[in-house]
Amino acid sequence: MTKHIGIFGGTFDPVHPGHIRCASFVRQYCQLDSVRLMPCHLPAHRASPGVSAQHRAAMVQLAIAGHNGLALEALELEKTSPSYTVDSLTLLRQREPEVQWYFIIGMDSLGYFKSWKDWQQILQLAHILVCQRPGYSEQSGDAPELLRQFGQPDLASLRQSDSGGILLLPNPLTGISATAIRQQLQQHTLAADSLDPAVLNYIQTHRLYQAL
Ligand code: ATP
Repeated sequence: MTKHIGIFGGTFDPVHPGHIRCASFVRQYCQLDSVRLMPCHLPAHRASPGVSAQHRAAMVQLAIAGHNGLALEALELEKTSPSYTVDSLTLLRQREPEVQWYFIIGMDSLGYFKSWKDWQQILQLAHILVCQRPGYSEQSGDAPELLRQFGQPDLASLRQSDSGGILLLPNPLTGISATAIRQQLQQHTLAADSLDPAVLNYIQTHRLYQAL
């Protein structure tokens, strides 16, 4: 039987509850067998993260522990060059041809999706699932045009094809960003519930983000 797997790519610098809540919501709402969080080695669209890919992946492992159906996808960690989604999805399709793939992004990423390398090809390899994010509207950037062209009204319509659709999800909003968390760690103003306790402990133990 075909497996349906979501891939949630990101820098995860660090992984935060906004990521985990999105991943869990998407898995349930879209009836996916699993969602894999895929930390990039070097992000293609932004400055290099301050923390190594190995540390970022270790924090993802800690954050997904106990969350049913969430897993780490380590494929991009094997690379030494910038990570491009199109290359990763191509490789995943080669490695696991029996899987139907769904690539998960936040609304902020949809706004500049057309600047991603070979974005049309990404849509040939997977469906795109878009999580709402506070402060980012479906009216900005590339989003309106992409939704007009590829948007699907619901999961049933999306599932009528193997790839090429974009679905906006009604996920609960979480106003957390890694940028804010890094700043709060440096300024010692992080609220207790802004990070998974195991992730915070890892950050403190390894003295990441100048947290100590
Ligand atoms: P930064 O603040 O450093 O840009 P980030 O919090 O956006 O980091 P990333 O690792 O860059 O985290 O994000 C990976 C993916 O998760 C992106 O597609 C992003 O849109 C999405 N995402 C991140 N935080 C949220 C959130 N709170 N709600 C919904 N989507 C999110």
